[in-house]
Amino acid sequence: MSSAERFIIPECFPDNVVAYTTTRCGGVSKKALADSSVQVGRAIQGKAIQGKSAQDKTAQDKTTQDKTTQAKTAQENSGAKDYLGLNIGAHVGDDIISVRENRARLPHSEKITWLEQVHGNTVATLPTLSVEADASFSSRPEHFCAVMTADCVPVLISDNRGKEVAAIHAGWKGLEATIIANAVTHFSTDPSQLIAWVGPAICGQCYEVNEALANKFSYYKNCVTPKKQAGKYLLDLPQIANQQLTHLGIKHVELSHYCTYCRSDLFYSHRKATHSNYEATGRIVSVIGLR
Ligand SMILES: [Zn+2]
Repeated sequence: MSSAERFIIPECFPDNVVAYTTTRCGGVSKKALADSSVQVGRAIQGKAIQGKSAQDKTAQDKTTQDKTTQAKTAQENSGAKDYLGLNIGAHVGDDIISVRENRARLPHSEKITWLEQVHGNTVATLPTLSVEADASFSSRPEHFCAVMTADCVPVLISDNRGKEVAAIHAGWKGLEATIIANAVTHFSTDPSQLIAWVGPAICGQCYEVNEALANKFSYYKNCVTPKKQAGKYLLDLPQIANQQLTHLGIKHVELSHYCTYCRSDLFYSHRKATHSNYEATGRIVSVIGLR
């Protein structure tokens, strides 16, 4: 992958605003295998499967073998952790030296304030020592805002003159708890003068939820789609973020249209990792600051 695809760069912000979202590209993190005792068990089972397929030569066995391969892949992933690439999350079990190296490779890395995100609705004004928050706000060029995600919605905001910026981590909990509105109140300008960018997140075709969760967002237009399966719905988090931003009076909202689940080759996706039987995965980061 070319270096141009290492970062997703929003083009909606003023020239003096630095903003980007990372991808998995260009990092040093690796896949972490399950512990060795599990590995040994797997190797023995692998041999047994090989021996069986050598003896049986019917076509039916081809299907059996395919199924076995699938099961084997899932089993191999079981207990493994997919951090491969530029994992920015220091809280997901990855080797901390790799994470430090990955973070050091980010543009303006030294200016970033790393939050301890808790799916709440607290907004930290930088600089701050209390980093337990899911959004940060800054009007100072030496302090950049950043949020880590792996399916949740990252939202970056600046005013149209490039004087103030904010980064918001908005999963369904944050969206429900109005973290976007909380962040917008920190700006000294009217919301009509703000620009917002909705970054890579799980899309409305990939995010399946139960009825209770779907009901929380039934108020939003075209954001909840019932599936054929009873009690299952698809929820469009980026679109909910978009509607909240618009409702707050922000006229200029842009969406990245990248899905972290559809493009798990490019991004970390918590849901995709779970479906692939990985025990953990990495995080991308969305950063915004003033030059
Ligand atoms: Zn998708």
